[in-house]
Amino acid sequence: MSKKGNMKKQSLLLLIILIVPIFSSLTIVGEKWISEKQNGYTIFYDSKDKKDILEYKVYFENGKKSVTDFLKNSYSSEFNIYIHPTRASLDSSWQKDWNMPEFKSQCWMVASGIADKLDIISPKKWDSLACEHTYSNTIKTQNLITHELIHVFHGQQNKSPDFSDVDRIDWFVEGLATYASGQCDSIRILEVKKALLDNKIPESLNEFWTGNLKYGLSGTVVMYLDNKYGREKLTSLLKYNTIKELLNSLDTTESEIMNGWKKYMKEL
Ligand SMILES: [Zn+2]
Repeated sequence: MSKKGNMKKQSLLLLIILIVPIFSSLTIVGEKWISEKQNGYTIFYDSKDKKDILEYKVYFENGKKSVTDFLKNSYSSEFNIYIHPTRASLDSSWQKDWNMPEFKSQCWMVASGIADKLDIISPKKWDSLACEHTYSNTIKTQNLITHELIHVFHGQQNKSPDFSDVDRIDWFVEGLATYASGQCDSIRILEVKKALLDNKIPESLNEFWTGNLKYGLSGTVVMYLDNKYGREKLTSLLKYNTIKELLNSLDTTESEIMNGWKKYMKEL
């Protein structure tokens, strides 16, 4: 064998050494998606989840209908739903999307929604791969999926489609998804009413999406805005990515909202 041939062999070997880890990491994170086009969206899933897709589709369809009924409008564009077979697969997606290569999700995190996609751990695996979620609790499972589908709709209307460029509107983004999905249930409302009586309410809306009561606090503020200004006005706020624009559009101030909300909650 000539020297030249040897060199060729060596560089080929080097190429294989370099390429193989790239391919194997792709396999580990489950990039071999099976896709299924639906009306308005496409589902991507791993072969391991194939048997459950029909069941999941019912949740997606119900959720989509709840969203469009609530917001009285249809989605402005198509989106993708990724059903992740493992938590590592979900993390790898978030690491790429958020440009945070070291990101590791916490056990309660199972899904996210932005304008063009919804990422979710295969719901039947929540019991083993997550904490705080039980697939067999069908109402909570549906509400969670509807919550993410609200985020998708919201992202399609918002100036920041992936909510990366927003200023102090977490309470609105999460409050809307919580309220419109039905997650702001009587238990959460009672918890907020109790916190009001105990004077344990954060001082600014910016802090509403923090702590144990974040769903109840943010959800009931959006419920209050819906009651005060009406559904059409509420929907018109989806395009804004700053609290300043939101308050301007409602011709109000943060303290006026806080005071109005407190009164509304006490009478609820
Ligand atoms: Zn959310």
